[in-house]
Parts: sequence; structure tokens; C-alpha cells
Amino acid sequence: MGFRGGLPGCDTPIKVNKIMRRNKRTEGVVVRSRPVGDQDRQVVILSREGLLEATAYGAQRPSSRLGAAAQVGSRAVFYLYVNPVKGHVKVSDVDRVEVLGAGRLEGLAVFQLWADLVVATHGAGHEAEVYRLLLEGRDALRRAGGVEEVERVLVGWLLRFLGLLGVAPEWDRCARCGRGLGEEGAWWGSVEEGLLCRGCAVGREGAWWLSGAMRGVCAGFAEGRVGLGVRVRMEEGVRRGLVRVVLERGEEAVGRRLASAGLVREVLGVSGGGG
Ligand SMILES: [Zn+2]
Repeated sequence: MGFRGGLPGCDTPIKVNKIMRRNKRTEGVVVRSRPVGDQDRQVVILSREGLLEATAYGAQRPSSRLGAAAQVGSRAVFYLYVNPVKGHVKVSDVDRVEVLGAGRLEGLAVFQLWADLVVATHGAGHEAEVYRLLLEGRDALRRAGGVEEVERVLVGWLLRFLGLLGVAPEWDRCARCGRGLGEEGAWWGSVEEGLLCRGCAVGREGAWWLSGAMRGVCAGFAEGRVGLGVRVRMEEGVRRGLVRVVLERGEEAVGRRLASAGLVREVLGVSGGGG
């Protein structure tokens, strides 16, 4: 796969698109939001054109029209004003605001993780697809009726995201010897190595061993044969195992540990790290 320590472009500052007009209307989802002083918020919005950073003045005031829209996970139409001298963008108004409202801590934690992955990879050059995937995942989280469904959606989303980044393995053959895996289990120790058959992964065992059933679930998501997992049948052991593996591979793809991944592990009660 030819990369180590994260994708190129991770963590470079988010720049204002130079060709942006002074006044712009864009539909998007807030993927990062931090308070500035005690009145304002600095937000990062993902739209189909990519990431954009803007200031929502007054968004911390209880009476602000921008308050709900400036939360992570909120979807809205944003009216933006670009100061052409300073290159600074402000949110001048919002419309059709829909907060994430996942209602459960698990759903909020999972969305925060996805948002962090999207920011860390800058959409990986597939902004429109990443935007569609994030909206699809957001809808699935809003519909998810319980923790199990949240876990299935998490697994499906991360596998699709890794596919968009180009770092998902081939699911049906060993990356080292090329042998077809049939119904066998396989080792997924790292994004770089891909999936290894029992012979090639000799001596390794533990958390990153995928059973044949787990590989089948992964292939279903990768080939787009299933939606984002709410109705996918997975035994508990398969589901919990995949949650651990995809969290690990997602962090590996961006080259570092994420606090939001730690929070997801905590609220879902899964441990991190290979065993
Ligand atoms: Zn092999």
C-alpha cells in the first residue's frame, strides 16, 4: 500500500478556497466546532466541495440563530461571507438546520470519530464521496435503535471509508502469497500488510484475526452489497471483533491515536490494542 504514518495531507491547515466568492451559500455538515472566547465558535464544515473553516460569531449566546447549526453533526445550509483581504470566512446566516440528535452517547461518539477521520485526511481527494458517506452514516446513526445497531453502522462506515482512502485490503486473497482464502480466517495486522492467510501469518494470533464470517461481512460492505449495517446480520462475537479491528485500522490510516476513538472504545466497552 506504500504509506506509513498516515496519509499525505493529514493535519495541514484548512485553507480557504481562493476562488470563493464573497458571498457563498453551501449545504454542509459541521465536523469540528470549538469555542472562541465566551461568545463565538470556530467551525469546520464539510460540503461536497470539501472542508471549509469559518467563524460563527455569537454562536455561544443562548439567543443565537447560529448556536444549533454550529454543533458537531449539525447539517444546514450555511450562508458565508468571505473577507477577500484577510481570507477570513464568517457564517452570516443559516437555514434548514438539523442537529445530529442521535440521542445516545454512542451515536454522538461515533459521529465525532468519523468527523475527526474526515478532517485528518482532508477527504483524501474524494470530497464528494466522503460527504455522501458522512451523510449516509449520519442518517443511519439517527435511525439506529440501540447500541448493536450503532456498532454495525460504525463497522460498515469505517470499512467503506478505508475503501475510499484506498487502504482497504482485498478480502478474498492473501496479500503475501496471493492464495484465495475461501472460507478461512485471515490476519489483518496492519493496513500496510493487508490480509494474510494462516500460513503467512504464522505465529500471530489475537484481536486482529478475522474469521471467515468476519471477512464475509467486510466484503459485503466493501462491494456495496449492503447499506450501512443497520440490517446486516452479525453474530455478537463477529460484530464486537470487527469494531475493535476497524477502530485500530482507522487510526492507523491517519497515523495516530484519536481521542474520539478512545471515547468510542469506552462507551462501547471494547478494548484497544492488538493481543
Ligand atoms: Zn499467504
